[in-house]
Amino acid sequence: MSLTLQKLHEIPFHRAALGEDEIAAVADVIRSGCLTTGPKTLEFEERFASYVGTRHAIAVSSGTAALHLALEAAGVKPGDEVLIPAITFTATGEVVKYLGARPVLVDVDPNTMNIDVLDAAAKLTPRTRAIIPVHIAGQPCDMDGIRELARVHHFRVIEDAAHALPSKYAGQMIGSVSEFTAFSFYATKTLTTGEGGMITTDNQAHAKRMKLMRLHGIAGDAGRPQGKNGAWYYEVIEAGYKYNLTDLQSALGLVQLGKCNAMRAARAQIAERYNEAFTKIPALDPPGVAPGRESSWHLYILRLNLERLAIDRNAFVNELFERGVGTSVHFIPLNLHPFYQRTYGYRPGDCPVAEAEFERCLSLPIYPGMTDSAVEQVIESVVEVCDAARQ
Ligand SMILES: *Cc1c(COP(=O)(O)O)cnc(C)c1O
Repeated sequence: MSLTLQKLHEIPFHRAALGEDEIAAVADVIRSGCLTTGPKTLEFEERFASYVGTRHAIAVSSGTAALHLALEAAGVKPGDEVLIPAITFTATGEVVKYLGARPVLVDVDPNTMNIDVLDAAAKLTPRTRAIIPVHIAGQPCDMDGIRELARVHHFRVIEDAAHALPSKYAGQMIGSVSEFTAFSFYATKTLTTGEGGMITTDNQAHAKRMKLMRLHGIAGDAGRPQGKNGAWYYEVIEAGYKYNLTDLQSALGLVQLGKCNAMRAARAQIAERYNEAFTKIPALDPPGVAPGRESSWHLYILRLNLERLAIDRNAFVNELFERGVGTSVHFIPLNLHPFYQRTYGYRPGDCPVAEAEFERCLSLPIYPGMTDSAVEQVIESVVEVCDAARQ
């Protein structure tokens, strides 16, 4: 093995696809002198809205801020319950807490690792106010099932689309499907502004509320905290938040948006190569895409058939690391974290499917900058580890 190790390169789990165009765009903003929210952010919002096919796009400082503003506009109040999947990043749950509501953890569908609609139905109470489906890895959730449940039981749908740019459900872009959709532009996401986010909606009143709350609850087109041409007067309507996106970030986002389809195509091609290599191996369970859905391929989540391996997931991750392959795990089910246990009484065993899938999943590198030989090295390393650990 030491011989193999010598010719190996380090393949990081992720590297953002940023180049000279992004650098030039940010440099232009610096020269313009308008550093905070201004014309670039307005342009980013307009282009983003037309890209996903919605009326309004509201740029904010993070995906977490996007979720928070959407829940606030949806009228989530103290004492309410919000259904969320057990497999997600903690941001999906913490925003529910911000509003004094309770995150109700729902188990996942073992095929997609997305929220299980039947389990969501089983966890409804008269206090259920909203659901936050998370499109894990970029594969859209069962939106028909979720929409129907929400319609019958009168609660709101806020999509967590942090992984789903661009993804499609029944031919429709994610971002144009539900009343609210929240995106993230965090450093590792498919479109990045370093930090940033966007909320999309077709509803004028919701858009107005979220724009108000995004910048201190100041009325008017709160895109311009500096005031225009000596216009110094403003009115504070609510105790809002400081969630605006800067023009520096929006300039970056505009360049990235222009590359969004090409970057997805590059990831889809890597996913195809992985799938082709891994379907032949009984110890591996490569990710499928359900009919009528298109994944952004933000993540490539590989699952292990542990009964066919002499090692567990953690050892598998370590073996890949020794071969220069960076990986990650998405996600530790929320009911296993101290905060959710202490605050809401969740315990191991509450979401058995999520916990079982978590024990056998790992995420492989998948990003546009990966070379062919890097993809090959990942495949060879995975195959090698499987062979060595076969039982
Ligand atoms: C990244 C992420 C978020 C939060 O986005 P930020 O921009 O980091 O605030 C929310 N939900 C999921 C599923 C995520 O992966």
